[in-house]
Amino acid sequence: MIELVFATNNENKIKEINALLTNSIKILSLKDIGCHEGIPETADTIKGNAILKAKYVYEKYGYDCFADDTGLEIKSLNDEPGVFSARYAGEEKNADKNMNKVLQKLALYSDRTAQFKTVVALVINGETSTFEGIVEGEITSNKHGKNGFGYDPIFKPNGYKITFAEMPLSEKNKISHRGRAVKKLIDFLNSTK
Ligand code: IMP
Repeated sequence: MIELVFATNNENKIKEINALLTNSIKILSLKDIGCHEGIPETADTIKGNAILKAKYVYEKYGYDCFADDTGLEIKSLNDEPGVFSARYAGEEKNADKNMNKVLQKLALYSDRTAQFKTVVALVINGETSTFEGIVEGEITSNKHGKNGFGYDPIFKPNGYKITFAEMPLSEKNKISHRGRAVKKLIDFLNSTK
């Protein structure tokens, strides 16, 4: 059994990842290890932030750990909001306001192509590895659906007529950015056993 901290306070992400993991990997949350502080996310890339978060927990709390960082990259907006996805419409990190800002800005463009990118950084015994997952799609004109979180109501993956927020979690996990990155993480962990 491998025990790993997942360095996030986002319950939705923990739910998504637990649905993907096999019995041989046990996830500890930040709460489980007594970490109640905000972990810095001050890098200027998605990959940089994922590494920063995983290393922070490993170095300060002494647990093997992984962290993820995700960004929504919209082609017409020069890959914005990207690394600023969480605070696109302000420090309060409000998902509804973030989506409104995207919809407002994109109203001027006909190309609504976008992708979600997740990087998962893993630190085991001080060694860092990273795994990337991407899902391509487009931004819808309005919000649709109540499932998921963040930008899910305005992201329609290629090949689907519905947004991530209209899918059950099992369907989103099969094709999502985080699902793809986490599958690579799991394959890596299984190969090192
Ligand atoms: P972070 O990875 O938690 O820093 O997320 C950055 C931003 O992307 C936040 O606004 C999240 O709500 C959003 N986000 C992360 N993952 C997803 C997802 O799977 N669907 C929709 N939005 C997401």
